[in-house]
Amino acid sequence: MDMLEVQKIWSSVVEEIKNEIPSSSFEPWVLPLIPHAFENGTFSVLTGQSFAIQILKKYFALIENILTKEIGEKVEFNIIYDEKLAQKHNKKLQKLLAREENIEKVSQENPSGKYDNLKKMQSAPKLNLKYKFENFVVGENNKFAYAASMSTAKTPGEKYNPLFIYGGAGLGKTHLMQAIGHYVLYNHPELKVKFVKTEEFINDLITSIHQGMDKSASMTNFRQKYRNVDVLLIDDIQFIEGKERTVTEIFNTFEALHNAGKQIVITSDREPKYIQNLPDRLRSRFEWGLMVDVQPPDLETRMAIICNLAKNDGITLPLEIVEFLAKTYSKNVRELEGAYNRVTAYVGVCNIELNIDSVKQILNISDVEKQITLDDVLNIVADYYKLSPKDIKGQTRSQKLANARQVAIYVCREITDFSLNEIGDFFARKHPTIIYSHEKVKEDMETNVMLKNCVNEIIAKIKNS
Ligand code: ADP
Ligand code: MG
Repeated sequence: MDMLEVQKIWSSVVEEIKNEIPSSSFEPWVLPLIPHAFENGTFSVLTGQSFAIQILKKYFALIENILTKEIGEKVEFNIIYDEKLAQKHNKKLQKLLAREENIEKVSQENPSGKYDNLKKMQSAPKLNLKYKFENFVVGENNKFAYAASMSTAKTPGEKYNPLFIYGGAGLGKTHLMQAIGHYVLYNHPELKVKFVKTEEFINDLITSIHQGMDKSASMTNFRQKYRNVDVLLIDDIQFIEGKERTVTEIFNTFEALHNAGKQIVITSDREPKYIQNLPDRLRSRFEWGLMVDVQPPDLETRMAIICNLAKNDGITLPLEIVEFLAKTYSKNVRELEGAYNRVTAYVGVCNIELNIDSVKQILNISDVEKQITLDDVLNIVADYYKLSPKDIKGQTRSQKLANARQVAIYVCREITDFSLNEIGDFFARKHPTIIYSHEKVKEDMETNVMLKNCVNEIIAKIKNS
């Protein structure tokens, strides 16, 4: 069989594989495979990543079936490790790392590399020393948020007030916010910085309201604590949703600080307009300054984040492990970091050899993948939209049900390990419908932020359930 034909067959086989295996395996491992030959009943492809073979092992039978159908005779499938491809791949990785070094230079622009002010920094309430600008890896996903934070840190109270940073869980909002705090404390030791989680603010307020006989004194204390500062960092403001008294108190605090030219920085998992029951006066104030978002990092940035962690720990991780981690944990930097921590801790204690197999074992990866079932997704989507799971799976064409169904299908594709066909069977729909639903929600999410937030909330609920 000539090369052209081999390539043609492979590209249609790839299309089919795409429907059968989760995109989390398809994109990083199947897509880069290069068709090589069809000889003596064996169809072979090349890879430059030795562990692609291990990872795809469980799909060999499936791929063989597809090939057999495509070619019309019994076919064996084989992946060959290719030195040349590996070298090419490594060059690409090296480039990524060079890029990481550039990032280092950018962030060292600020003098905070050498904190002789360390004492003050450590006594600064609740700021985590790890969350500094120089430990923050800048990528396409967060460069605006980084620049705005840096600028705010350099001239607090002057430019963007408030600075409102929003985005999904584990994407670096708290990190950036605290980096501002560190930077200000280091460069302007005379300024007072206060970091507060919104939950803490709420609890503090409740305690002050209920405290003893002398209510007015305790409220005065409370107010002083939050108004007698130069930089107020309020983390996760979405938690004020529905807390009327807190909303009023935040509003008054905001007014007092803003009028006095003090800097306010706020983080949230969504834009102000999607925080429920937020009075317009507060919403519009949140939007007065600058709103910037953080998005999930791309693969390169995720790799740079791991390299950065390893560098700080004085560890040299094999590149293939860095890449493996970055490919496995793509949506949330906290999870990525957690995986890195587990791997390095384990290796430190047990002195085992670090390779993809041991890493997979340490992270219990196959178990992680299996945790979420299609029923989990369906039930949580149903609960979220106050619909019955049975109706969502059913044939009714009401708009409300159809929308919920599409969201459920999208979420199944995004976060579970089930194939298109399995998802199709579950929802009693053909697989083009599954593809269509997934694409539609994906597209709509780009323009409809409300939908995007709903979906993110649903995913968070499923993961936490
Ligand atoms: P969020 O507040 O958005 O939920 P965090 O700021 O708590 O997320 O970040 C979660 C973890 O990921 C933290 O340990 C943080 O240091 C790390 N992290 C997130 N983004 C980056 C980044 N760009 N570079 C380095 N570390 C990051
Ligand atoms: Mg946070």
